[in-house]
Amino acid sequence: MKTGYLIDMDGVIYRENHLIPGAVEFVAALLVTGTPFLFLTNNSAPTAEDLAVRLRHLGVTGLSARHFYTSAMNTADFLDETHPNCTAFVIGEGGLMAALHERKIANDAISPDYVVVGEGAFTAEKLTKAHELIEKGARLLATNPDNWCPVSSQKTRPGAGSIAAFLEASTGRRAYYLGKPNGYMFHSACRKLTEAALSPIGRVVMVGDTMETDIRGAVEAGLHSYLVLTGSTQFEDVGDYVYQPTRVLQSVADLVEEVKTGKTPENAESPALGSNRHSGGKLGMRHQTDVLALYKPRPRPAMTK
Ligand SMILES: [Mg+2]
Repeated sequence: MKTGYLIDMDGVIYRENHLIPGAVEFVAALLVTGTPFLFLTNNSAPTAEDLAVRLRHLGVTGLSARHFYTSAMNTADFLDETHPNCTAFVIGEGGLMAALHERKIANDAISPDYVVVGEGAFTAEKLTKAHELIEKGARLLATNPDNWCPVSSQKTRPGAGSIAAFLEASTGRRAYYLGKPNGYMFHSACRKLTEAALSPIGRVVMVGDTMETDIRGAVEAGLHSYLVLTGSTQFEDVGDYVYQPTRVLQSVADLVEEVKTGKTPENAESPALGSNRHSGGKLGMRHQTDVLALYKPRPRPAMTK
């Protein structure tokens, strides 16, 4: 039976608008062999169509919208499945708006069931409105827990996690975070992968560069996980984590032959432990879910009349 691949994008296929060497060959091998695959991203701003165009401009051809699953699509699937015909006040960009529209979840700025937060498009007015609606009973949902998103090696921008954290602090209510590493993201992606595959899938492998989202989510969903070292994780830091990838690769270039032949090298899958050395980098918790263990509910003071 075939192996199916769930593939992260930033740090795996490209970085800062530059393709990672071997990425074109990897995607071409997946396409030519009819291997089931799905790109899995926490970025809720673009639509699947936007992502296909973006990769085409970078030089990766043959992809269409059906090859992508974003945290925005995951959020829309979650609401459609758990609360059909619900309404939402949305802070987010086109990809999130389109995904909710596709699932017939109406925009509601008066009495929504949910405040849904993705990255981008936040203003003081929208945050104030969202705060008021949560106080009136709307539930807080974030497309993903990322506190910041990489823009370049020198630059980041605020992510959905930090915007949701603002509202958690102001309202005293906790958000629910979809996207990676939430199991709902991985289970939905596996279902999508299985539905699209022409023959049964033997095993599913998650290929990603981030331990807290890609690898953790895959481990918790019972999938194989391949860490690539072309993105956010240094090999020396892998040993710091309780959960471990089933394999560590230099890049997706290492998978090209394997996809072509359909054979995994013997003894390839064994957890790789690094030392406990930190390599530095940006300080702070990368994902909003990482701070939960430290979270102490802060009761709100009584309102003064
Ligand atoms: Mg990544």
